[in-house]
Amino acid sequence: MKYLLLIFFTLTLLMHCAEPRPVYESFEEYPIYPYDDLGFTYTPEQTTFKFWSPNVSGAKLRIYASDDPALVPEKEIELEEVDNAWTAVIKENLLDRYYTFQVTDHDGNVLNECADPYARALGVNGNRSQVIDLKSTDPAGWGGDVRPKLSDAKDIVIYELHVRDLSLHPSAGIKQKGKFLGLTETGTLSPQGLSTGLDHIRELGVTHVHLLPSFDYMSVDESRLDEPQFNWGYDPANYNVPEGSYSTDPADGNVRVREFKQMVKTLHDHGLRVIMDVVYNHTGRTEDSKFEQLIPGYFYRFNEDGSYSNASGCGNEIASERPMVRKYIRESVEYWVNEYHVDGFRFDLMGIHDIASMNEISQSLHAIDNSIFIYGEGWTAGNSPLPDSLRALKANTPQLERIAAFSDDIRDGMKGSVFHHEEKGFVSGAKSTKESIKYGVVGATLHPQVNYDSVNYSNAPWANQPQQCINYASCHDNHTLWDRLEISNPGVSESRREEMHRLSLAIVLTSQGVAFLHAGTELLRSKGGEENSYKSSDEVNAIDWTRKSKYRVTHDYVQGLIAMRKAHRAFRLRTTEAIQTHLNFLDTDDDELLVAYEIKDVPNDNWKHIVVAYNGNGESKYLDLPAGSWQIVANGDTVDEGGIGRAVLRRVRVDNNSAIVLVKK
Ligand code: CA
Repeated sequence: MKYLLLIFFTLTLLMHCAEPRPVYESFEEYPIYPYDDLGFTYTPEQTTFKFWSPNVSGAKLRIYASDDPALVPEKEIELEEVDNAWTAVIKENLLDRYYTFQVTDHDGNVLNECADPYARALGVNGNRSQVIDLKSTDPAGWGGDVRPKLSDAKDIVIYELHVRDLSLHPSAGIKQKGKFLGLTETGTLSPQGLSTGLDHIRELGVTHVHLLPSFDYMSVDESRLDEPQFNWGYDPANYNVPEGSYSTDPADGNVRVREFKQMVKTLHDHGLRVIMDVVYNHTGRTEDSKFEQLIPGYFYRFNEDGSYSNASGCGNEIASERPMVRKYIRESVEYWVNEYHVDGFRFDLMGIHDIASMNEISQSLHAIDNSIFIYGEGWTAGNSPLPDSLRALKANTPQLERIAAFSDDIRDGMKGSVFHHEEKGFVSGAKSTKESIKYGVVGATLHPQVNYDSVNYSNAPWANQPQQCINYASCHDNHTLWDRLEISNPGVSESRREEMHRLSLAIVLTSQGVAFLHAGTELLRSKGGEENSYKSSDEVNAIDWTRKSKYRVTHDYVQGLIAMRKAHRAFRLRTTEAIQTHLNFLDTDDDELLVAYEIKDVPNDNWKHIVVAYNGNGESKYLDLPAGSWQIVANGDTVDEGGIGRAVLRRVRVDNNSAIVLVKK
């Protein structure tokens, strides 16, 4: 009997050892890892490593003393699967050690060694992850860091900025050129003695600085930062770590983490919130991306023929609808909020993501902080195998919870389609654009006086509430507003184009919804006519601060409009119903290029009756005013709440290509 038992136990043991790992036939069968500790968990006594990849036969962890690619590992450990995560616990102090993962597939193929998809720190170019003590990267006062006050999403004025553009121009007067720390310098001046950088942004009065991709991206080689290199950064490499080239030392993973936090802290201290431009819709690499090499197939969508689908136009698209991808994105944004105190997210090509994932992300972020702002591009750059009805496209915005979309309707209504460079828009005298402007005025919501059939792209309102609509004239994509107006208005004088430019920004800053400005547009920013400057030189992309004195009128005008918007609730109505109640378009039916409206009796606004008009005509027009005595507070080049000129009765002249705002006395 004893022998029989022994044989039985031995056989059981042998069978257990020889038991092959499960092979899953479809992604739906993959078991989920439900906990939030993927990546590493560091203490001085031990570090735990975990990653999820259910459909491979084995996985390895390698520990390195440095990020030097020539250096061999100090340690190589076979990972064990515990609760569906490949796991290793190393009872040593691994502080600042670098590490990688590598898997073997079911056919015995050893795939590429990769950084941890959940990496919190990285060496140069993100090839190796790093174990750091995140607590030790907190700048002074980090525990007391608070988000600047914001009472409502409608109060937001966004300033869209590339980290490098801010400081690279010789006129910036900023020492930490191209770095996160460049955004922390105060007292910086242009050669004409006008403030630049952080001081400039603060004085302009915007509420949020939206940073172009500042997570780790691929295209700038961090090993040769002494050479000029530029990229917008829409080629993600590591989603949970700041970009190395914007730090003062990309090799030491602690530095970029600390400097990013220092930037956020300083911006918060100056009353500015911080938005990250996030690009979860695709990865910079495809076949050899870390997701593909560590968790083959799972993170991407595929066409029926097995090829990568490509709604991003960048070679692949992420399958946000799969549970562990959805979880990855949610945990990533939560991490940026919790660890870095980020205040909002702009989702690149949000139309690739599924609606359910976006809503789960919104709920989760708003549970952390109710004032976090989320918006995205409600379109794609190509077709997706996931049906339109399931994706976060602009037309599906009503199904998105507290997530806003960019209004290309007003953008192109103002200045012409981005796809037809010579096309004019409302501000440059193109007829048939009036309803697109009115659509923007009401923040893409339902209003009885908008004729939706005549709006350029949308034949229905797509915003449930005005905070779901981002109104803008231009952004990093396509021509700058100033270049576009030059290209589409040949032979038109510079002063006339300045009028058109100011009218565009006046429309953005007086319309309901959320206002968005491309950094430098207040200085008539130019990229020398280049449209897609994603990898152009610093000379093309950097903000030229000498323009601040040259175009001082426009700068002061934008600053004045922002202040007026922030001071008057009438320009930031809270709900669709409030817009329907308080905002009434005036009859300008006999003029295709004159839009006028009144806003009346808005609670908590000392301006009880306001008239706003936009004249897209090349000549001045007269507008009949409601009864009473009216004071002009803004015209085509000046904003003055104290009043411009004498009071007017009955009718007012609206200059060519200009806006006017009047208040009843
Ligand atoms: Ca990088």
